[in-house]
Amino acid sequence: AELLVEAKNLKKHFPIRKGLFGQKKSYVRAVDGVSLSIQKGETMGLVGESGCGKSTTGRMIMRLLAPTEGEIWFNGRDISKLNDKQLQETRKELQMIFQDPYASLNPRMNIGDIIGEPLVIHGMMTKKEREKRVHELLEYVGLSSYQANRYAHEFSGGQRQRIGIARALAVNPKLIVADEPVSALDVSIQSQVLNLMQDLQKEFGLTYLFISHDLSVVEHISDRVGVMYLGRIVEIASKESIYANPLHPYTKALMSAVPIANPRIKRERIVLQGDIPSPSKPPTGCTFHPRCSACMEICKTVVPELIEIEPGHFSACHLYNQ
Ligand code: SF4
Ligand code: MG
Repeated sequence: AELLVEAKNLKKHFPIRKGLFGQKKSYVRAVDGVSLSIQKGETMGLVGESGCGKSTTGRMIMRLLAPTEGEIWFNGRDISKLNDKQLQETRKELQMIFQDPYASLNPRMNIGDIIGEPLVIHGMMTKKEREKRVHELLEYVGLSSYQANRYAHEFSGGQRQRIGIARALAVNPKLIVADEPVSALDVSIQSQVLNLMQDLQKEFGLTYLFISHDLSVVEHISDRVGVMYLGRIVEIASKESIYANPLHPYTKALMSAVPIANPRIKRERIVLQGDIPSPSKPPTGCTFHPRCSACMEICKTVVPELIEIEPGHFSACHLYNQ
């Protein structure tokens, strides 16, 4: 398989000012050293509770946010330090689908103009060609070309997400970052949209970074899955491996809350103790240690590295570090 994306030690630290006169500067470590790779044509799922840094990671890979530190290699070149003009060129290859199809579609533009807008932004196609392309895109996502003149409010949530997908597809991107694309939809509609995304992936050879807090949704669509906790990836593996055999205590706890289809697999529900600590004051050592029932002395001081425990299955936990 060919690499499309390689993020190396990505960090995003947002400054916050503390104290009445803002004299004490501190940082929220939203993303604190994420490395991950995405192969061409695969779906990489990124999962974790809200605030774990998965959206920030997606936005840095999209280059909507500049990383504080680290590199992003896309299709063989480092895009983390591009200037605005170079970025504009690269943006064609990277498109995003957002969580809320209500908020992300302009209410004053008709659907045809919304879907065709990226083509205008990138100066691609004549008006005539664009019209044809929009009609084609509407059909790809299961809508009809005659709907191009309608407005977003005339569509259901699921249809609006289809419109968002058509818009993302318009410029023939290589990578689509989808941030909670089905979280605002009814469960019955979710699988339709996920199936559509999978069909389009096959048809157009798309690569997805799929971000979600929902483990069932991630299981449905991903080839590989990374689990994030407090700005770091704590486990990464193939979907099969991570769902059947989670290694990190945090992943185990998350997985234990997911209903499983196979009744022969017995899984005890693990209830996590305490809340997620603030990313402005992360715990020392393994940042999961205050909530971990397997915590050892070393965990309180030494940060566990993400290491390969089984072929292709990486975990950042001292339990496996012998
Ligand atoms: Fe738990 Fe220690 Fe593993 Fe962290 S490193 S998850 S505290 S056992
Ligand atoms: Mg988010």
